[in-house]
Amino acid sequence: MLKTDHQSSLAYARALDEKDQLAEFRSAYHIPAHGGNPAIYLCGNSLGLQPKATAGALEEELRQWQEKAVEGWFEGDRPWLSYHKYLQAPLSGVVGAETEEVIVMNTLTVNLHLLMVSFYRPTSRRYKIIMEAGAFPSDQYALASQVRFHGYDPQEAIVEVQPRAGEIHLRTEDILQTIDQNGAETALVLFGGVNYYTGQYFDLPAITEAAHRAGAYAGFDLAHAAGNVPMQLHDWKVDFAVWCSYKYLNSGPGGPSGAFIHARHGNDPDLPRFAGWWGQKEEERFLMQKTFHPIPGAAGWQISTVPIMSMAPHRISLELFDRAGMDRLHAKSELLTDYLSWQLDRLNRQEHRFQILTPSELSARGSQLSIYLEKEGKNLFDHLSRHGVICDWREDNLFHSGGGVIRVAPTAMYNTFEEIYQFTNLLEQYYTPKS
Ligand SMILES: *Cc1c(COP(=O)(O)O)cnc(C)c1O
Repeated sequence: MLKTDHQSSLAYARALDEKDQLAEFRSAYHIPAHGGNPAIYLCGNSLGLQPKATAGALEEELRQWQEKAVEGWFEGDRPWLSYHKYLQAPLSGVVGAETEEVIVMNTLTVNLHLLMVSFYRPTSRRYKIIMEAGAFPSDQYALASQVRFHGYDPQEAIVEVQPRAGEIHLRTEDILQTIDQNGAETALVLFGGVNYYTGQYFDLPAITEAAHRAGAYAGFDLAHAAGNVPMQLHDWKVDFAVWCSYKYLNSGPGGPSGAFIHARHGNDPDLPRFAGWWGQKEEERFLMQKTFHPIPGAAGWQISTVPIMSMAPHRISLELFDRAGMDRLHAKSELLTDYLSWQLDRLNRQEHRFQILTPSELSARGSQLSIYLEKEGKNLFDHLSRHGVICDWREDNLFHSGGGVIRVAPTAMYNTFEEIYQFTNLLEQYYTPKS
């Protein structure tokens, strides 16, 4: 249950922090400084903060390399040969999967391509991909290039679901209708989980069900959803999903990507894939034989030697997620975001100053609120930056007004209610004329 009768006082924000069950986790992270004080970091949707345990986790692997060298693959507390296994259980909890349905490998756009090898196999009758308009550019490029690779024309083969005239979000009914209408020709429905720009969290189970009804696969790019919103990928029967580990999952710039492949596909040897020796069963990998017997589950999609130095920070970060638990993180995220949204509404009531692009329904958003500002936007953003707020600025690509969007993501893992108070205070300061 959410409180909607928040109060604007500092004492109120501090009282919420006092009651916060996850408050201890903040001290597990390095908070960047601004002028000798902690910055107000609201950019965890772009690059999550570094856990203090990250350096130790890396040092451990450096030591293993120093002391054991090649034997490190087989010896020590965490032999490198099995490194992917140390991440599967905690990661499966983050996305609602069975342990063997997830794997950490490569980076995000690479995994999107690799899983499309398995799940986008167009035929002359079924060749379309349905996706959201305004998807993250990398996904747009990846999908268009896949379509061309198979000899089709993206103009015709990619169907983008648009918001209705004058609207910002996609209506679930419109998404489902587009899938139904194109059903017989659709090979794949590929959506973001949470749209990077508007912060809209799509109805994944409904989209998956509609894709399956049409006889198509359902895949998701969960870059802005993993570690942010609760998901049940297994129960929702999602076919595949990919995400990165450097946004909400705090595993460092360019950190490795996660992939989900539903159990009903994971053991299907007839599903084509691009293979490499790291997907070969461990007991056979070093026999160097010609036949490929993939590891059952998502691990069988691994291609290349596991990059230990980028896996170690991810492993340590996932330990923190495992301890905090997605349920508690989500409960806090809802309250933090609700408080932020209440504060923004309060400022807007005095005078209409900005527009929140993110849906107000709790089930249709995660931690991020996107604040659209018309002309003065960049000045406001600079004011926030000068006062130690780290968030991000995107030129407007919706209204073409010369304005822009500030994306603010209070993350449950390390942000406080007091920070939300300070952030809104700075906004208020900016709008209050100096006497
Ligand atoms: C962040 C993000 C990416 C970035 O992909 P990389 O391959 O990690 O560079 C791609 N897609 C979406 C939806 C994202 O949010």
